[in-house]
Amino acid sequence: MRARPDTEVLVVGAGPAGLLLACELALAGVRTAVVDKRVRAHRESRALNLHPRSLELLDLRGLADRFLAAGRTVPGWQFAAPLKRPLDFTVLDTRHPYALLLAQSRTEELLARRAEELGVPIRRGHEAVALRQDPDGVEADVDGPDGRVTLRAAYAVGCDGGRSAVRQAAGIGFPGTDESMTAVVGDFATADHDDNERARRHGVLVARLEAGLTRYVVMDPLRLRVPSTEPVTLEEFRTSLRRACGTDCGVGRPRWLSRFGNTTRLAETYRRGRILLAGDAAHIHFPVGAQGLNTGLQDAMNLGWKLAAAVRGWAPPGLLDTYHGERHAVGRAVTTLTRAQTLLVELPLTPAYGESATLLCELFDALLGIGDANRHLAGRLSALDTVYPSGDPAAHPLTGARMPDIGLTTGQGAWYVHDFLRDGRFVLLHLDGEGDGDGHGHRTAGPVRTVRAEQYEEHPALDGATEVLIRPDGHVAWATRTTGSRPRAAERARALAAWTDASGRDGAGPHP
Ligand SMILES: Cc1cc2nc3c(=O)[nH]c(=O)nc-3n(C[C@H](O)[C@H](O)[C@H](O)COP(=O)(O)OP(=O)(O)OC[C@H]3O[C@@H](n4cnc5c(N)ncnc54)[C@H](O)[C@@H]3O)c2cc1C
Repeated sequence: MRARPDTEVLVVGAGPAGLLLACELALAGVRTAVVDKRVRAHRESRALNLHPRSLELLDLRGLADRFLAAGRTVPGWQFAAPLKRPLDFTVLDTRHPYALLLAQSRTEELLARRAEELGVPIRRGHEAVALRQDPDGVEADVDGPDGRVTLRAAYAVGCDGGRSAVRQAAGIGFPGTDESMTAVVGDFATADHDDNERARRHGVLVARLEAGLTRYVVMDPLRLRVPSTEPVTLEEFRTSLRRACGTDCGVGRPRWLSRFGNTTRLAETYRRGRILLAGDAAHIHFPVGAQGLNTGLQDAMNLGWKLAAAVRGWAPPGLLDTYHGERHAVGRAVTTLTRAQTLLVELPLTPAYGESATLLCELFDALLGIGDANRHLAGRLSALDTVYPSGDPAAHPLTGARMPDIGLTTGQGAWYVHDFLRDGRFVLLHLDGEGDGDGHGHRTAGPVRTVRAEQYEEHPALDGATEVLIRPDGHVAWATRTTGSRPRAAERARALAAWTDASGRDGAGPHP
């Protein structure tokens, strides 16, 4: 074995979280390598959707069109399977007010292609088996087709799923609740549409993944306590389908059969020294509301630019720790919400609750018909309502929220504000002609692009803002209503120093 300091960041796991993280790091000029123990990319798909915030994040980098072209949009998503009324995303304030039906395998394929375009090596058939860290970096023992190599990197990120070897090597606990209920999923080459409708009416999830491939998810009251480790047979699947809806929908030739459960866990920290976690390595839960993959993509967008700043030396002290501060809170909110959603799924299947469970679901359905209730839950499920608290009570209300994609005009034409985030820099947006930009246009210095523009669409969230500093992940770092150029310059200087210190410290903190 020998140490090879051949990469700045080692990403363990080429699932959706690892691939998007690698893209973000490479975009920021960080040498990044991805290892994945699987020899080939996954063919089967656990997830089948992208929610609005994930689509927005892809759009920030100019990638949404590739994904939209590969899938099919639907106007909303089910909050919990027994409810009759899906959440309505069309009312959300976004250019992507829908969910995209897209098999996880396609999402991974598109992300892997982007990573390759950015020059990231993805080494498949390479399993990280041990990790050690010291004050200057991380060493990983990786077993590959040519034996074991030791890779050295400044940082390592575990994007290696719920059983994360990286999390275990870093000694990070994964507390939560054990599995108490399971469901079965099957992907079949079938097109029995009449029976599919009937199955849907009886609470079976039926979704067309691609031409000639349909997904069924069944929760059989008599098989709810079967452990997820027990394999599913075609006969069991057919029997459960028949029990659920009186027909087996003619399913045959399964491409994939699996059993999954409601184990819910959240890593006690998303960072220990130079080792970080993202995606399922940091949080797992029942896939109700389809939030796991989406939350992992949002972790990756939050972490990518912060880690790049630490590696490149422009991270102010503590910046990298805000990854845990911001995303752990989101992980807690998602795992809490899914536990409540799971109960809505479980109660109607539990004989003891019988009619009471039906009444509860009817009540929920009625509530979802109220605009504000729909908006609240759709905001949470879509992740558009994610706000990273600034801790400053005097901060502009937009601080920490996602920047709405307002229309702008500059000397160079009409834009949406998200268009300026393509290359992963901060955007300093002057909205009233003040500031140090060169006319109504934009210029770039280091990690910040300055844009002087006029708003051609009023947006209530801007609430009189004259200047906004937008982070590379599209959240607002700082905003002000100040109009005088001197006081504003002082405020701006403080904000820029807080977010983009060029002193070269990385805020890595003490190592264990
Ligand atoms: C039935 C089901 C349906 C779901 N539906 C949805 C949905 O509709 N929407 C949604 O958002 N989420 C859904 N999810 C959850 C979603 O699939 C996961 O949240 C998502 O796959 C997590 O992505 P990830 O990149 O964090 O990890 P993973 O996709 O698990 O990828 C981890 C990768 O790490 C690799 N790896 C593991 N250990 C090592 C190691 N030691 N060395 C190297 N490589 C390693 C693995 O081979 C794998 O490729 C569903 C889950 C299930 C079970």
